[in-house]
Amino acid sequence: MPERAASCRDTTRVYRSASGPVHALRGVDVDVVAGQVTAIVGPSGSGKSTLLRILAGLDRPTEGTVHVAGTALAGLSRRGRRALRRRHIGFVFARPADNLVPYLTAAEHLRLAAELRGVDVGDEPARLLRALGLDHRAGHRPVELSGGEQQRLALAAAVIGRPALVLADEPTAELDRASAAALVAGLHDLAGLGVALAVATHDPVVVESADRVVLIHDGEVVS
Ligand code: ADP
Repeated sequence: MPERAASCRDTTRVYRSASGPVHALRGVDVDVVAGQVTAIVGPSGSGKSTLLRILAGLDRPTEGTVHVAGTALAGLSRRGRRALRRRHIGFVFARPADNLVPYLTAAEHLRLAAELRGVDVGDEPARLLRALGLDHRAGHRPVELSGGEQQRLALAAAVIGRPALVLADEPTAELDRASAAALVAGLHDLAGLGVALAVATHDPVVVESADRVVLIHDGEVVS
């Protein structure tokens, strides 16, 4: 895994809206490094989700370059971008229900995620369930898991197959404090395995524990 798992340079995103152009990002430089949790912090509307979507290859910058796993996203066809996303990018949304399939058990989620990743993951599913305190939940469906367990399962599915980059958008937003702390511990355990994690968040528990904090205001990185 490259040390700088993802980076964007001079990245701008302008949305067209009925009331005129919206400058969601104005020339940002960000690095997401393997083995670290990078918190992306800023008030609502500052551009955090836009930045995550661009790093995930789900949206294209209006200007600037984005590299993931050593590959420039702009140079890829739609198909090539999809292949890179499958292999190298994991994503965790804020709402547990958006991350999980109601009729699959925890173990089945990880099997499906591994299949989609397209690599041999060996005993990684069992190890991840153990590492995230979910081994006793392997046979359970999302409705039988707490919100915190659901988000840890989503994190396990995002991380399986060792993608270069895992992105999470407000992953603790719907969790109580104890569950948020457990998820944060999980993020750091995974970083310890060499995963690069970028987490858009307002949550002080995530921010205080992060290895790096990127503060965004009004589409610009201020520190
Ligand atoms: P955050 O995640 O920090 O709340 P966003 O990245 O969602 O910020 O939004 C940044 C700015 O871009 C906001 O002003 C938002 O209203 C605007 N924006 C986001 N998505 C769109 C869109 N699809 N069309 C128009 N404006 C958008």
